[in-house]
Amino acid sequence: MSTHEAMLYEKKENNRVQCKLCARRCLINDSAKGFCLVRKNEDGILRSLVYGKAVSAAVDPIGKKPLSHFNPGALVMSIATAGCNFRCKFCDNWMISQDQKIPGKNFPPDEVVKTAREKNCYGISYTYTEPTVFFEYAYDIAKLAHQVGFFNTFVTNGYLTPEAVKTIGPVLDAATVDFKGGGDPDFYKSYSSVPTVEPIYEALKEFRRNGVHIEITNLVIPKIGDSMDRIKEMASWIKETLGPDTPFHLLRFHPDYKMTTTPGTNVELMEKAYMTARNVGLNYVYVGNLPRHPAENTYCPQCNELLIKRHSFEITKWKLTKDMHCPVCEHKIPIIGQLHQTGARFPYALF
Ligand code: SF4
Repeated sequence: MSTHEAMLYEKKENNRVQCKLCARRCLINDSAKGFCLVRKNEDGILRSLVYGKAVSAAVDPIGKKPLSHFNPGALVMSIATAGCNFRCKFCDNWMISQDQKIPGKNFPPDEVVKTAREKNCYGISYTYTEPTVFFEYAYDIAKLAHQVGFFNTFVTNGYLTPEAVKTIGPVLDAATVDFKGGGDPDFYKSYSSVPTVEPIYEALKEFRRNGVHIEITNLVIPKIGDSMDRIKEMASWIKETLGPDTPFHLLRFHPDYKMTTTPGTNVELMEKAYMTARNVGLNYVYVGNLPRHPAENTYCPQCNELLIKRHSFEITKWKLTKDMHCPVCEHKIPIIGQLHQTGARFPYALF
């Protein structure tokens, strides 16, 4: 189950192959692996080493992704394998994303979808580690999921090639694209070992062209990734390119992995970042990892009425009309799908 011929690669001279899944476009010698360590050239054939080999599976509220404007309240089946094409020093899933032994449990695509159904989920989320590096597994699950009426969502660092976005696009409904440190290229080089950020913006445009609902996050890290100029620049790009209704989540950093001595982001800094993005003209800015903060909520951009009240991933009050209008001024709020009342409040792991 675990070795499976890769999608999106090209055979080259001397038994080498070039992977075209992510913007690294690794040129891989025979018997070698790509940068993500989960794709291997076996005698001139590129193979995924993690196909059907899930390292984590859980039932999550969709707000955890975070997706705030897509099927609110729905439960999703989260799935991940080992591997990542980034090397973030602050990764909070480093035990699975950077594990070179490729651990995992045999969990074929049809079993994933069957389990999601049994657990009352409405969709599948490819998350925790970078779904680009388990693309073939995600793609096969996503096709089956669509056949039974489930939606599919990626939580991604956005470092996919346009070819990868175009391939997954027809079976992908939503994507959360995660920036770190305001998208500063120097930050990406120093803290994530990523040479250039431009491909992320190209992938975002490609997601949009493919009709995928997009929400964007940015991790605000004290001192090294907290520039308000960067946040302003990013918010402006989102507004101009994807539109002012694109949800933008500012996430609070907490110490992890190789950055346990960097303090968590304080509330004042998060509020400054929030106001910076709001002042650019984005209509739906949120803060994450700050439970009960008023900026977790959705407000009407026209009359400022509180429309959706949240506590972390849980919706505690819903005031929108059935067709997603503000009940006070009738402004249409861009929310895809419907409100789901599944009753479960907290995520729980299956393995
Ligand atoms: S997915 Fe892995 S092998 Fe492919 S280009 Fe990216 S890092 Fe390299």
